[in-house]
Amino acid sequence: MEVRFCDTTLRDGEQTPGVAFTAEEKVAIAVALDAAGVHQIEAGIPAMGPGEIEVLRRVVGAVERAGVVAWCRADQRDLDAAVASGVSAVHVTIPASDLHLRVKLGKTRAWARERITACVRDATDRGLLVSVGFEDASRADDAFVTDLAGELRGLGVTRFRWADTVGVANPIALHTRLRALVEAVPGPWEIHAHDDFGLATANTIAAVQAGFTWVSTTVTGLGERAGNAPIEEVAMALRHLLELPVELDTAAFRPLARLVAGAARRPLPAGKAVVGDEVFDHESGIHVHGVLRAPATYEPFDPAEVGASRRLVLGKHSGRAAVRHLMDRHGIDAPDEDLEPIVGLVRAHATTHKQPLSGDDLRALVRRVATGRTAPPTAPRG
Ligand SMILES: [Zn+2]
Repeated sequence: MEVRFCDTTLRDGEQTPGVAFTAEEKVAIAVALDAAGVHQIEAGIPAMGPGEIEVLRRVVGAVERAGVVAWCRADQRDLDAAVASGVSAVHVTIPASDLHLRVKLGKTRAWARERITACVRDATDRGLLVSVGFEDASRADDAFVTDLAGELRGLGVTRFRWADTVGVANPIALHTRLRALVEAVPGPWEIHAHDDFGLATANTIAAVQAGFTWVSTTVTGLGERAGNAPIEEVAMALRHLLELPVELDTAAFRPLARLVAGAARRPLPAGKAVVGDEVFDHESGIHVHGVLRAPATYEPFDPAEVGASRRLVLGKHSGRAAVRHLMDRHGIDAPDEDLEPIVGLVRAHATTHKQPLSGDDLRALVRRVATGRTAPPTAPRG
């Protein structure tokens, strides 16, 4: 089974408070996502007005392989705007929980049913491919969602999106719920998970294990509040933890992450899974010793798979093996007896400067130890 990716960096990602992409940035991100092999790009909300419609038109024109989908509320005016944007697919969303229906909108489940049914009919009549999203499904009555999806399936909906809108699902309970859903209504189903409790990737993986075949992701997890499931984490977890085929160009993730981080003005944390600058660095003595013997000891996959490379760095936790290895690499020689004092100086240097040592730093420390060893004893006074 191949899992398909609907990337919503350009819609949910851009909804992040304070994030606003220019038209050029949106097109560049869409082209990069397309080149990386995502199956569908959720490119924006045409109902926002003529400016966004124009951007969507440009994205549709620039993307070669991926499908481009426009996000719509269950409202005829949104469909009008989507048609004007030139997309062939729309994603229509309807609130599914009573909290959203009653409190947010003052409506009933019957209203939701009527509204989404009419909207799906309207969209298919216009020749659009329609997917339907159940907003806040994680806090909705499963029986309601199951019934409604079953009904909509007969109207030609191409897939359903199950949204954990405020990120309150947990993987084990979610798996049970979604398995029952998939058994009742074959779908295809897409999971849209938010990261409010840091579980977006875990919940996305659980949904796939339950039979969902589409995942909704964003680059680096950019999105409302704590964000969405990051495409790079989900892809690598599907490939390495579930051993499923992932046909994306995973080496594109790191440049893609930098492109989006720059456009969003959100610097990437150094330790961000898969795409962070320092996630393939090794410093501690035990780890470096292991990695030098077999990288798999402390790496879950080859960094080259995501276009990165392993770095052994010298710091407070370095041991003799790492220091000797890096001395060799920098062409620095010293007798074995000097190694222990060099390690001591390396640790002190890292603690003082709070950063890894460069080759030049190491060379200077080695020289200091050698000088100390060969310096003549202090001349006697007198
Ligand atoms: Zn969302």
